[in-house]
Amino acid sequence: MDQYLNFKSHHSLTHKRLVVSTLINRTQQYVSTTEDRKSELAHVHNALRANGYPEWAVAPPPSNAKRPPSTNNNPQRLMLGLPYVAGLSEQLGHIYKSHNIHMYHKPANTLHSMVVHPKDRTLKEHQCGTIYNIMCDIDSSHTYIGETKRTLSQRFKEHTNLDKPTGVDHCQATGHSVSMKNTKVLTRESNWHQRKVKEAIYIKQRAPSMNKDQGYHLPAI
Ligand SMILES: [Zn+2]
Repeated sequence: MDQYLNFKSHHSLTHKRLVVSTLINRTQQYVSTTEDRKSELAHVHNALRANGYPEWAVAPPPSNAKRPPSTNNNPQRLMLGLPYVAGLSEQLGHIYKSHNIHMYHKPANTLHSMVVHPKDRTLKEHQCGTIYNIMCDIDSSHTYIGETKRTLSQRFKEHTNLDKPTGVDHCQATGHSVSMKNTKVLTRESNWHQRKVKEAIYIKQRAPSMNKDQGYHLPAI
């Protein structure tokens, strides 16, 4: 059996109409003799019925039906892609159309979205090449911004090594504490120079109170 988008499947009517018109147009374009066209058209109709298409959907649109003038070449027209939801999408389509917004349907569940899980990323502790923010456990206004080529946990251990504290001596000075829980990765950058520049931008923007210096000296803009 020729298998096409089933009429009962959860897709917009426009999409199903397109299946019908594409198949019918194809019988007119690629079959040369009138006899062959007739039999090909009958074959398409049977295939569509087998895929659940009712007669009214299989019938070609009346030849005097005029298509509305296309507005696709209007550069001002906005496009909006949303997953199809039966009933709701049709209503939304009308509303958007009245605002000159063309709504099209895009699949909500793609193979990519099922297979690729961006949330399964490396745990922050194991991430290398990061610019990170440490927030004081006691007072969230006390922050430190740093960068490291190595893993965040390696660098964090150095910051909290009481024998040889690096960078963060806030804890000894105040009796406050810092923890991995309140440490987050701001961004990742493997290139040393780029990382230094980004760290300096973060320091300039956020002015973290635990930092003693301003990091990499940013060139004047
Ligand atoms: Zn503090």
